[in-house]
Amino acid sequence: MKLLLLEDDDLLAESLAELLEDNGYRLDVSSNLNDAQAFMATEQYALAILDLGLPDGSGVDLLKRWRKGQVDIPILILTARDTWEDKVVGLRSGADDYLTKPFHEAELLARLHALLRRRQGASHGYLQVSGIQLDEEAQRVCCDGEQWASLTATEFRLLRYLMHHPDRVHSKAQLLDQLYALEQDAAAPNLVEVYIARLRRRLGKDLIQTRRGQGYLLVSHRSS
Ligand code: CA
Repeated sequence: MKLLLLEDDDLLAESLAELLEDNGYRLDVSSNLNDAQAFMATEQYALAILDLGLPDGSGVDLLKRWRKGQVDIPILILTARDTWEDKVVGLRSGADDYLTKPFHEAELLARLHALLRRRQGASHGYLQVSGIQLDEEAQRVCCDGEQWASLTATEFRLLRYLMHHPDRVHSKAQLLDQLYALEQDAAAPNLVEVYIARLRRRLGKDLIQTRRGQGYLLVSHRSS
């Protein structure tokens, strides 16, 4: 699952990138409004994290522009400003949540999970599709009420992406793009096949279907 981070503080951006990648997210980082706008126009993100004070303007202006356009993904504002006026302006401009620097990593992760789950329409603590429960915080899975089992980082990223977008066909290229950062271009398309096979072995053959020449889809309702 890919997130966009707009943050001009290099150190903070770097530590956030590490935190989010450790937690199974892929991340594009931009340090100014211009680049963020270009990223948003060309990539598909599940969520964006916006700093407000940026070298070429205010994150609030970009947020307003996005909301006037087609951008309806959850947006979390991250800023050093902690007055209630700033918070109100941010939320009125279309942000879904707000976090004041400095913040605890655990709080950021909890809020991200909550925003993504809300988007998924899930009110319970776990992402749940087709008898599979995914605990996004502990990166473990439970199949039809059986024991929780841990997943490898790549299995987790792939399964989470498919569970957030069920009943849609995803090409191998799209899945690879969600799994690996651009610099890891050694990632071969057949890696997707390998990980799909592993998920099928763990969670049942009928959960993820193959569409020949098109890609894969995770079914939200299994026939059996
Ligand atoms: Ca800033």
